[in-house]
Formats: sequence, C-alpha cells, structure tokens
Amino acid sequence: MRRGLAAGNWKMNGTGASLAEIEALTAAHPDPSVDILICPPATLLARMSDAVAGGPVATGGQDCHAAVSGAHTGDISAEMLLDAGASHVIVGHSERRADHHEADADVRAKAEAAMRAGLVTVICLGESLAEREAGRTLDVIGAQLAGSLPDGLTGANAVIAYEPIWAIGTGKVPTIAQIAEVHDFIRSALVERFEGEGDKMRILYGGSVKPTNAAEIFAVANVDGALVGGASLKAADFSPIIAAL
Ligand code: 13P
Repeated sequence: MRRGLAAGNWKMNGTGASLAEIEALTAAHPDPSVDILICPPATLLARMSDAVAGGPVATGGQDCHAAVSGAHTGDISAEMLLDAGASHVIVGHSERRADHHEADADVRAKAEAAMRAGLVTVICLGESLAEREAGRTLDVIGAQLAGSLPDGLTGANAVIAYEPIWAIGTGKVPTIAQIAEVHDFIRSALVERFEGEGDKMRILYGGSVKPTNAAEIFAVANVDGALVGGASLKAADFSPIIAAL
C-alpha cells in the first residue's frame, strides 16, 4: 500500500535559527513509519539537507525553473536543488500560481524539469472559494490535473497535493465529505491516465492541517498524508501531525 507522507512547506519562513526545529523533529521520530519531508526556503536548503543527512527527514525545494541553467535572475533549477541536497520539489503551489502568474503549462514544465533532475515532484492543485461556491470544484481540479501533470509520472517520482485555496492559512477546512470527494476524483483521474502507477501516487491534503484535525483527515480514503504550512514550522506542532498519520 501507499506509505504515508507528512510534508512541511515552510514558505518564506525560517533562518539558520530554525534548524533547531529540525533537530527536535528528527529526535522525536528516529524511526518513523511514514515519510517526512520539509521544504524550507532556498536559503536554508543546503544547510538543512546537511543537518538531516542519513536520517528520516527528506528535504525539498518550493519551486524550480524549467531550464537546467541560464540567464534567469533569481531562479533556481531542479538540478541546483538536487545539488543542494533536495530529493523533492513542490511545483504549482497556489501562491506561485497567484504571485508569479504560473499557469498549468508552466507547472507542467517545472514538473518535467523535476523528473529530468531525478527529484520527486509534489504537484499542487486546488480551487478558489468562488469556484467552490459556483459548484465548479471538480471541473477546476480536472483541468489542473490534465494541464499540470506531464506524461511519465509514477508512484515513485510524483506526489499530488490537493490544497483548496480558501483553506490555506485561514483555519477553514473542507468537510470530510468534501475532502473525500476530491481525493476520490483525483485518484480516479490518476488511475485512468497512469494506470497502475496512478494507484501508487500519494495524494496529500493541504490547507489548515493542525494537530487537532490531522487524524480525522488522515482517516479519509485516498488521503495519503498532508502538505502542511504554518503547523510545520515548529516541531511541537508538526510532530503530532506526523504521529497521527
Ligand atoms: P497552511 O497549513 O498554513 O494552511 O498552508 C497550507 C499550504 O499551503 C501548504 O503548502
């Protein structure tokens, strides 16, 4: 069966002092029964990767450029993330889609770059509140799946994260039935397109996951873990989420 994945997205948070949280997290989970991933800001990636080397915590980038190298000031390639010690990269987060105008085709190119570099790509999808209220959630997710996922994804090189935009950082969480509906829909689409590999891909829920709601979310079929923002910054918050998985 699919192994659970507890992933933390630190977003634009954290300095060298925050590495103490990773030491605490590693000490609290010496032999976890699930995979643990932290995606720190790029400035911390190499230091964090060195700090967790040989232990159960993997590291990832929060974005990558589609090209290997070149004249792209401020950007970072998937190969550079690998060089810094990352094994994963998040692509298509709604904050990237909004702040940097990334469309499905851009996300797909970034996911292809991650595959090229040998990174596991965590591809994010999710509807806005207006789309949900208009009853368009599954249409939106279906279009994002079709447009953002490259061919050739497997259970080993790809993870899908369902993050309703209105649930990110708001304390609002979809109902269990709403989470189940979307995760089942994503699973069916993955199996239809990627056949057996689609059944092996982990599907994470993200959006206001906390120690208090993690267990009931993880009990939902086709929820294979979480992509956690705010509650991944402190070991004291992230540790019980890992334990609930
Ligand atoms: P929060 O857990 O802070 O709502 O953020 C979720 C998220 O966007 C993770 O990528």
